[in-house]
Amino acid sequence: MGKHYKLIIVGSGPSGLTAAIYAARAGLQPLIFEGAQPGGQLTTTTDIENYPGFPEGISGPELMEKMREQALRFGAESQFRMVKDVDLSQYPFRIRDDEGEGYEAEALIISTGASAKYLGLESESRLKGYGVSACATCDGFFYRDKDIVVVGGGDTALEEALYLTHFGKTVTIIHRRDEFRASKFMAKKALNHPKIRVKWDSVVEEVLGEPGPVGVTGVRIRNVKTQKTEDLPCSGFFVAIGHHPNTELFRDSLEQNETGYIITKGKSSQTSTAGVFACGDVQDPVYRQAVTAAGSGCMAAMDAERWLSEQES
Ligand SMILES: Cc1cc2nc3c(=O)[nH]c(=O)nc-3n(C[C@H](O)[C@H](O)[C@H](O)COP(=O)(O)OP(=O)(O)OC[C@H]3O[C@@H](n4cnc5c(N)ncnc54)[C@H](O)[C@@H]3O)c2cc1C
Repeated sequence: MGKHYKLIIVGSGPSGLTAAIYAARAGLQPLIFEGAQPGGQLTTTTDIENYPGFPEGISGPELMEKMREQALRFGAESQFRMVKDVDLSQYPFRIRDDEGEGYEAEALIISTGASAKYLGLESESRLKGYGVSACATCDGFFYRDKDIVVVGGGDTALEEALYLTHFGKTVTIIHRRDEFRASKFMAKKALNHPKIRVKWDSVVEEVLGEPGPVGVTGVRIRNVKTQKTEDLPCSGFFVAIGHHPNTELFRDSLEQNETGYIITKGKSSQTSTAGVFACGDVQDPVYRQAVTAAGSGCMAAMDAERWLSEQES
């Protein structure tokens, strides 16, 4: 047994905090677990130009601080700890945090997000936010008439590359094999595009440049067949090798798809367990935007509120 809540929200990105705003205004006094990254992924970026309501743009940390303030103003409670253990086999649901404290909840909202996979190069992490990105929709706009490099060979990588042709002077795809993993349709579309070229059988050895105003200046690639290295000049370096949803806590308790995304039913946020709802990137392998995460957070709070009311009647 632990402290009792009507609703616990796990995760404080745009989906979790939006869910908290709606749930708090509905009088549910939710507890939000903020986890290791309070405010979520957006706190790692400076310029957000596509979140409605901010015509001049807004920094990620500032936007997330405003969302948190809004949630707390209506009575949400925030806890800067990680959830370590969740037991959905009992009701109320049981939760344990990383300090060993226990909680129980009548309903749960999972908004633990997802993380982009990166190559793991030191130069790549040093230049994140200075030309290295994992989101073409978010950052493509900054590379108008510039040379862009995309790493990957699946459908998402080719979609990102095609999207980036709207901005870049050239878009070069680096792929470690001699054919794409993507569907034939996408491969054909990318290969026929006049701005796209491909470096087959190649891996990235190093991202070149300096953090700050200089940013990314190029990439050093190596052909895995000939072992020859080559420097390609570019200003934008987009990694498109997949995402990892943060769903380990629920591996055995909630239905997930083959890549670990939580499955929600129909157009709702309802998961495979009644009373447990999911929103944001943790259940969305497609859109992965702050505004879609926030929208689904609103849905989750409304679904949870309705479900809790039904239990009482
Ligand atoms: C560098 C970068 C730039 C971006 N730029 C834009 C942009 O310009 N526009 C845009 O729309 N989108 C952008 N995005 C995408 C956007 O950030 C995500 O779509 C959005 O943050 C997803 O929100 P979320 O609420 O689902 O989860 P996240 O933001 O991923 O937050 C997940 C939350 O869950 C918490 N958590 C995870 N595990 C646990 C646990 N066990 N216990 C407790 N808490 C836990 C974390 O601490 C975090 O608070 C960008 C992403 C990145 C990485």
